[in-house]
Amino acid sequence: MKTPEPTLRLTIDADALAGNWRALDQLSGTAAAGAAVKADCYGLGVDNCVPVLRDAGARQFFVAHWSEVDAVARHVPPEQIAVLHGPVRDHEAAYAIASGVLPVINSLEQARRWNALGGGACHLMIDTGINRLGVAPSELGDPAIAALSVDMLLSHLASADEDDATNAAQLAAFRACLPMVAHRRASLANSAGIALGSDYAFDATRPGLALYGGVPRDELAGTIRQVGHIEAAIIQTRRISAGDKVGYNGVYTADKPMRVGTVSLGYADGFLRARGPGGVLRDGEAILPILGKVSMDMVVVGLENAPGLGDGDWLGVPFDLPDAARQSSVSQYELLTVLGKRLRN
Ligand SMILES: *Cc1c(COP(=O)(O)O)cnc(C)c1O
Repeated sequence: MKTPEPTLRLTIDADALAGNWRALDQLSGTAAAGAAVKADCYGLGVDNCVPVLRDAGARQFFVAHWSEVDAVARHVPPEQIAVLHGPVRDHEAAYAIASGVLPVINSLEQARRWNALGGGACHLMIDTGINRLGVAPSELGDPAIAALSVDMLLSHLASADEDDATNAAQLAAFRACLPMVAHRRASLANSAGIALGSDYAFDATRPGLALYGGVPRDELAGTIRQVGHIEAAIIQTRRISAGDKVGYNGVYTADKPMRVGTVSLGYADGFLRARGPGGVLRDGEAILPILGKVSMDMVVVGLENAPGLGDGDWLGVPFDLPDAARQSSVSQYELLTVLGKRLRN
């Protein structure tokens, strides 16, 4: 017998996703937009998103882990996949060579490892100030770097989502590195970096968040559309009296008799406790306030504004990322990447 579907669902608006990629590609000017597809496309699902991005025109895909390659390689050629963490262990370098996926070399040690195993085309990350991954500009004269066959020379902006002097400083530092390493393409901008203007675009851009509906800078508001839509079903309703408490630790107390609905969505699905206080679910235009703490698999809402609802009825979960981030004080990145497995089946 077929397994019953979960009482919550994530729908991907493929038109919005493709439209976001095209808009970011346009904003990238003469540079080609790629796509960051790490963390299962930021929680929205590789199988849902990578074919749409590919069909929209993306030809360069970024994952963080080697373990993320297989899922992406089902949809795009291996030479279009870059692994940002790079070859930390010998067998990862060997895997890259065998699979045709390109590593991002992040250190002299990784460069030596890559060269020792026979290497071939790779990407090279330069650290221009985020102090996370990448070789230092002062290391670029090393023979291990000269021996690389560099396709894309990358660096990553630390504060592109802010108006901060760091952006111009990183841009200048990156520019100064370009003549020091032979390369086919240069790439600096993530989503927010694209909004900083054409100076930051170089040959290739690497949007992630904004593809999936995130708006890291106001310049992108009005251009970027919501991609993920979440719904969850009511699994029980009840009447409670004035003075009754709802949920763990009884943090909500009813001040009048009311009807409430228990909804099949909780923090295990990525609907974090931070979305409880002041948060709502929706029935069309009707607003249903969240009562008490979000549980692992459930949340309780007041049904005053939608008295007709009952078991099995679907509710909308607000997932406009800038709004949800303001309401919950959780970043847009985290709101996406915490989405639970039950939403991605
Ligand atoms: C995740 C990541 C991106 C995408 O960044 P967004 O801010 O999500 O657009 C680009 N480049 C690198 C190196 C990354 O790690």
